[in-house]
Amino acid sequence: MTSSTASRGRWLVSEERRPLVAAVRPGSGWPEDPATEATPVAVTAGQVRELAAAASSVGELAARESVCRACPRLVSWREEVAASKRRAFAGERYWGRPVPGWGDDKPRLLILGLAPAAHGGNRTGRVFTGDRSGDVLFASLWRCGLAAQPTSVTAGDGQRLFSARMTAAVRCAPPANKPTVAERDTCAPWLAAELALLRAELRVVVCLGHFAWQALWPQLAALGYAVPRPRPVFGHGAETVVAAAGGARPLTVIGCYHPSQQNTFTGRVTDAMLDAVFGRARALTGATAAEE
Ligand code: SF4
Repeated sequence: MTSSTASRGRWLVSEERRPLVAAVRPGSGWPEDPATEATPVAVTAGQVRELAAAASSVGELAARESVCRACPRLVSWREEVAASKRRAFAGERYWGRPVPGWGDDKPRLLILGLAPAAHGGNRTGRVFTGDRSGDVLFASLWRCGLAAQPTSVTAGDGQRLFSARMTAAVRCAPPANKPTVAERDTCAPWLAAELALLRAELRVVVCLGHFAWQALWPQLAALGYAVPRPRPVFGHGAETVVAAAGGARPLTVIGCYHPSQQNTFTGRVTDAMLDAVFGRARALTGATAAEE
């Protein structure tokens, strides 16, 4: 990090000038909050790059992600949603901050989604937690021996993942679930840094949906993986093994239809289809009961 951007005080002052009215204040006691008041805040794309690259652990990375304010439209949206709320959650406090990667710190399996849901992860502070997609996803992970509980309702509910981690290509809930290309690119260094920190143990990545699939390949190429050209075509159960540079362990990338409400209601993706993907992913990680 350069000296000009290492000024935590300056960033914190700028953060304090615009208090988080609706969002949870870092270090204020929210369960599983990875950040503290001292966590540096990125407010530009350049600062995202610098803070992501300088994070020395997934915990530090998650903390920095969770206070990021680099995309003005998404910052406004996530905090607006946190203030206005959905009627069903009117009595709840919303997280209202970026939703960082969550799960095992040294996973063999990474599950990559698009972005947190406005009233799901943006409410609970944990990715895929508190919405219908997450309900279907966690149930499958539990049936496949990858999660401790069949549900993930709220941060601090005791849920754990076994040798698995989940994250999103864009860390903030976007309007209509559609981040812009600029927002995707601004957020990409967080994912790049997460992959770099995890790669020593990582064996499998499951991409939930086409957006996640597309977002992953440039990151793997940047890490030195031999990404095929043309890039593999997304599909449910599509599987590609990519070799790593220097004889390091190869990575298997698996496509999976997103367990969105629309996909599950229409039968485009079923419990059996999800179980097939996650059962396969678990087998590829080589996880055994003893390792859990
Ligand atoms: S989308 Fe990513 S880069 Fe943009 S504000 Fe959220 S965490 Fe920061």
